[in-house]
Amino acid sequence: DFSPGNYEVSRSIRKQNVSPSLTTYYKKPLLLHQGHMQWLFDYEGKRYLDLFAGIVTVSVGHCHPKVTAAAQKQLGRLWHTTNIYMHPSIQEYAEKLTALLPDPLKVVYLTNSGSEANDLAMFMARLYTRNFDIICFRGGYHGGSPYTQGLTSIGSYKHGVANGFGCPTTMLPDVFRGPWGGSHCRDSPVQTVRKCRCSGGLLMARNVVAISTPFLCSCHTGHCHANNQYIEQFKDTLNTCVPKGIAGFIAEPIQGVNGAVQYPKSFLKEAFQLVRERGGVCIVDEVQTGFGRTGSHFWGFQTHDIVPDIVTMAKGIGNGFPMAAVVTTREIANSLAQNLHFNTFGGNPVACVVGSAVLDAILEDGLQKNSEEVGTYMLFELAKARDKFEIVGDVRGKGLMIGIEMVKDKDGRQPLPIEEIGQIWEDCKDMGVLIGKGGIYGQTFRIKPPMCITKKDADFALEVFHAALMRHMERKAAT
Ligand code: PMP
Repeated sequence: DFSPGNYEVSRSIRKQNVSPSLTTYYKKPLLLHQGHMQWLFDYEGKRYLDLFAGIVTVSVGHCHPKVTAAAQKQLGRLWHTTNIYMHPSIQEYAEKLTALLPDPLKVVYLTNSGSEANDLAMFMARLYTRNFDIICFRGGYHGGSPYTQGLTSIGSYKHGVANGFGCPTTMLPDVFRGPWGGSHCRDSPVQTVRKCRCSGGLLMARNVVAISTPFLCSCHTGHCHANNQYIEQFKDTLNTCVPKGIAGFIAEPIQGVNGAVQYPKSFLKEAFQLVRERGGVCIVDEVQTGFGRTGSHFWGFQTHDIVPDIVTMAKGIGNGFPMAAVVTTREIANSLAQNLHFNTFGGNPVACVVGSAVLDAILEDGLQKNSEEVGTYMLFELAKARDKFEIVGDVRGKGLMIGIEMVKDKDGRQPLPIEEIGQIWEDCKDMGVLIGKGGIYGQTFRIKPPMCITKKDADFALEVFHAALMRHMERKAAT
């Protein structure tokens, strides 16, 4: 019985019998009872605006009626076929999903988690190219399985045992924290133009908010000099860390766990070309950025004007139902078809109807457009907070994939101490707004709500965030 009075009982059972690796958010973790669209309710009946969507997983809304109805109907009919018998749901879903992807991305594999999807993508890249090394960004998270742990490059997820061989990391072209800047040429409605250090530090006005104005780098080259520097680093990795032939390169369109980190706009396009010149395939991890979240496009890779060879997706694909997918080309798929490849639960009828209902809900509820409108509104409002508060170092992202990087001060850009960030975060929770955290120093707030959030909700969240920052200032003034 998990009635409100039994909060402590529930907590102690969890402590004794559930994986100790599962950390819970907040000093007093929430004991949730139910969810509805962008709202969560705890056992005491308190309502929270969910700005983190179960780590960017609830795409169309908690218990979205259409998705719930589809699942319930299928649960009463047939749960499982292991795909040794045909069931219309998988064909229907594969057709619907691939219609949303450009050529030649037309072959779907269904798995049960993002780690499994990335495992499969790595396996495919290696089989197809007959090469081994897969380059990945420092700061990326691509999964927790032994294979994908090699790609995951955030210290707190590394366990110090041998795993994931053949995954050389390359410098993250992080335009806020990286040595050359370049935040003026990332693809975000808000820009923090700061000192460009690439040619002796010519200065542009800091904290200028640019509305779709393509800022040129202050180094007078006419294009982003910072990008050129990051690309040089990428070439350096190719020349020094990998043999002549590589299996591939994997990247997220915007890094998720690392705190909505964006790259200079043309970085991925140029990097893809370099990878392909060396015989590698390009993998895009859309686990967080896919399904309309970036607003302007359905897939994050489209915002970079690239077409990958393999795309992986999870989380939002099922609105919280455990399912994931890999989509690739016929040619790459054929290399895996030389032998049997099997997944017991991948593509089960319940997952397929859920996935299908999620796609319908995104289209019917206009959620991509909503992500763009509400996300852009939030970005501009948050940029005002950035200009007001010295500790808000950077506001970035696209659509409803937003990062707010907290610093001690804007010039030094040292991460705000974790206890201070934690208190702001707790205060937001106490005022009814749940936000996420990320970044290798835990320094970035992440706002990635269910895509059904409204402008009114955004106003409430912004008010709460502002109040939490004011409280922080008051605490600081008092010490
Ligand atoms: N890729 C990305 C970008 C992710 O954020 C995650 C999960 N945080 C994964 C892959 C792994 O997904 P899963 O937890 O479903 O294995």
